[in-house]
Amino acid sequence: MAEPLLDVRDLRTYFLTDGGDVRAVDGVSFSMERGERLGVVGESGSGKSVTASSIMGLIEPPGAIVGGEIRFHGHDLVTLPEREMRKIRGKEIAIIFQDPMTALDPVFTIGSQMIETLKIHRGMSKKEARVVAIDTLGDVHIPRPEQRLDDYPHQFSGGMRQRVVIAMALLCDPDLLIADEPTTALDVTSQAQVMDLMLGLADDRGTAVMLITHDLGGVAGFCQNVQVMYAGEIIERGPAGPLYQQPEHPYTRGLLESVPRLDADAQDRLHSIRGSAPSTTTPPQGCRFWPRCDYATDVCVANSPDPCSGRGAQECACHFAGDLQSNHEVAEA
Ligand code: SF4
Repeated sequence: MAEPLLDVRDLRTYFLTDGGDVRAVDGVSFSMERGERLGVVGESGSGKSVTASSIMGLIEPPGAIVGGEIRFHGHDLVTLPEREMRKIRGKEIAIIFQDPMTALDPVFTIGSQMIETLKIHRGMSKKEARVVAIDTLGDVHIPRPEQRLDDYPHQFSGGMRQRVVIAMALLCDPDLLIADEPTTALDVTSQAQVMDLMLGLADDRGTAVMLITHDLGGVAGFCQNVQVMYAGEIIERGPAGPLYQQPEHPYTRGLLESVPRLDADAQDRLHSIRGSAPSTTTPPQGCRFWPRCDYATDVCVANSPDPCSGRGAQECACHFAGDLQSNHEVAEA
């Protein structure tokens, strides 16, 4: 069987603080194939963005990868020297953040930033790089790209700036694009356009996309596979269709029930998951979701469920996956 494009095994990224170790990512395993679209969903603090930063080699002290492997093209990125990682970052793996200004330097023109990237990563001359930069700006529908290349980031609107960031991310035809809440900062009318544009261009290039979002409903139409994170762990993963139709983990069910529906009765109250996400410094013993779970039993409080292995079809880290209702009846009796 061909090796996956990305294979993350038992990744642990902690922030070592005076108040204790914040276990932001705690034993996460998953893989991605070439050209795959994977949605990574969870609320703030669930570990989605730290997983992305770990893959990019962007964890700064007091954060550290304290365990696990991130295999990409056969290399373990965790042990790769920074000098080697710099050749991969931006060229083979690119990232788009929510705020375009984190990716753009305000004191240089868009053109000089794009041309520099192409010179470093693809060894192009300035003249060749300018042609490619203009073409790529055209691909993301920037009008008059040959003129806009000489503008500074502040001369673009928010939506146009995010298009420029997409152009920069795809400049070197990366194998993997990580998009961390790429449209959250945009107005609603621009969000769908920018998302369609980004995913269409990634498909054209055969680029796999990891789409990070807090919006479980939003990724349904965009991704083949989805994984749900909670308190630093993957608690459910699988193909998007079955996972949406028949979610097994009570947290995934709660997230889906809290998505507003147009066909719902206006008088119906929107579902909410009681309580709040636990501390990842001192997470609950056993299943981390038990304080908020309607199905919890003594077993859940005493023992952690097996983690998702990242292999196979739909997986759920719950002691009672597939049998929640009968378990609930036992717990109630
Ligand atoms: Fe709920 Fe127990 Fe399943 Fe955790 S293991 S999600 S507490 S039923």
